[in-house]
Amino acid sequence: MYRNKTCGELRLADTGSQVILSGWVQRVRDMGGMTFLDLRDRYGITQITFNSESDKKLQELANSLGREYVVQVTGIVRERSSKNPKMPTGDIEIEATDVKVLNKSEVPPFTIEDDTDGGDDLRMKYRYLDLRRNAVRKNIELRHKMAMEVRRYLDGKGFLEIETPMLIGSTPEGARDFVVPSRMNHGQFYALPQSPQTLKQLLMVAGMDRYFQIVKCFRDEDLRADRQPEFTQIDCEMSFVHQDDVLELFEGMAKHLFKEIKGIEIKDAFPRMSWDDAMKYYGSDKPDTRFEMKFVELKDLLGRDSGFSVFDNAAYVGGINAKGAACYTRKQLDQLTEFVKRPQIGAKGLVYARVEPDGTVKSSVDKFYSQEKLQELKKAMDAEPGDLILILSGEDVNKTRKQLSELRLEMGNRLGLRDKNKFSCLWVVDFPMFEWSDEEQRLMAMHHPFTHPKEEDIPVLDTDPAAVRADAYDMVINGVEVGGGSIRIHDSKLQAKMFDILGFTPQKAKEQFGFLMNAFTYGAPPHGGLAYGLDRWVSLFAGLDSIRDCIAFPKNNSGRDVMLDAPAPLDQSQLDELSLKIVEEEKK
Ligand code: ASP
Repeated sequence: MYRNKTCGELRLADTGSQVILSGWVQRVRDMGGMTFLDLRDRYGITQITFNSESDKKLQELANSLGREYVVQVTGIVRERSSKNPKMPTGDIEIEATDVKVLNKSEVPPFTIEDDTDGGDDLRMKYRYLDLRRNAVRKNIELRHKMAMEVRRYLDGKGFLEIETPMLIGSTPEGARDFVVPSRMNHGQFYALPQSPQTLKQLLMVAGMDRYFQIVKCFRDEDLRADRQPEFTQIDCEMSFVHQDDVLELFEGMAKHLFKEIKGIEIKDAFPRMSWDDAMKYYGSDKPDTRFEMKFVELKDLLGRDSGFSVFDNAAYVGGINAKGAACYTRKQLDQLTEFVKRPQIGAKGLVYARVEPDGTVKSSVDKFYSQEKLQELKKAMDAEPGDLILILSGEDVNKTRKQLSELRLEMGNRLGLRDKNKFSCLWVVDFPMFEWSDEEQRLMAMHHPFTHPKEEDIPVLDTDPAAVRADAYDMVINGVEVGGGSIRIHDSKLQAKMFDILGFTPQKAKEQFGFLMNAFTYGAPPHGGLAYGLDRWVSLFAGLDSIRDCIAFPKNNSGRDVMLDAPAPLDQSQLDELSLKIVEEEKK
């Protein structure tokens, strides 16, 4: 037997008992006559004591142990004379009677502490050591707990967990595919699923009624803090449902997770905001509603024959009221201007107006507007003395709204309005069916091509596709899109029409999605579903800045696994077997 107790479970009531613990040496403190060893495992840390008077040899052995050695300790539980209230095991210590070294360790390249001295790259290279740290391990534990609660909830609602294959054909979620060459099918490639979208729809045709899967999805995109090339979805689909049925069931799941994991009981229904309103008031389809600071449109008030050509020529002028920020210094305002002018944001400039203690408004464009006009602005912005009004304008309405959205979030951060321990959930609904792609010069499905248009908008599909809204919805928490889905098309003719609008020739649609359209001719039930991003959700609950921190073995920003050193070149023999030839980059 290696152990009969863990390093996290012994308490005062265990005093006097003989125990065997196994774990890693966190640290050894040689105090002369006494040595203290902190022994660590997944469950906690227990202090072990060695006394030169009772066993000098054993104490010497303890003093020789290095950090991260794996040891087995036998001893008696004793009450500590100086207790440590910060540790769950802080009331006791183990008086060692025997120590066995189970394995030695090199000196680790960084300290295995909550505040480690290891940089990102080093920690990723030695991720198995990084995972020994409390701070990282607890995210992995949280992830497990959430996955278990998801299973519990969905099982309780009659969902079946069904696995779908990884080696499939292309699924159109709007990203690039990762592809896998097939040795047995010369010159042909599998695509890894961007999601199991078509497969879960086929499971509905198959009569499975309620499906879910906690599943890896693969998208070859540029990476950001909330994106990894492979990530995990809680993927769900249901038959015989309308949008409300789906929203109700999955709002229930969100509430279940909040209650079981965070101990937060949410009684009210999640607000539902139309996509139009989300864009109008927050400039984002994933608004952070922990704070207000809604946009106010100011084109009519400030941008018509005002003499200020920037506003007069703009298609959109919009402002936010940063409450209490009139005290911002020139330097802080300059920083904000720099912020909106960053290439990632791309605004040309920032106009501001302060409401002074006496109620007058002082603005950076005073010379174009009378005090009377500025008072109207104050009223429109619902501003009071001490408030700072920030205004952006631009020729492209949506682009300017996005810029203002970035500014709103920045002000939210600066004013401390984005508390990680506060949660604000909502559904964004009524998404447009299509969006125009400048790159592709065609309409693209905003969600994916299987999304059902709103029944009442179907008549204008041909004549005014841009006006068609979809039965699509996203769940948004604190400005993070945690999940999204839609009611699907289950009629092969409507599906064919959709492919046509999206620019697929009948031939191409058949090649790529013939299996689905064919399945729809055999009695497809009305169905719909959604998928949650598990990584995003865990990060949100753990208060993390990057989803990487809740993934056991994540990739870095260049899509590399620095621990495994992947991706890597293939051997020539493997390339030959697959009939692949690598063209050197310069020669391409
Ligand atoms: N397959 C979709 C996605 O990955 C989710 C859904 O529509 O169920 O975003």
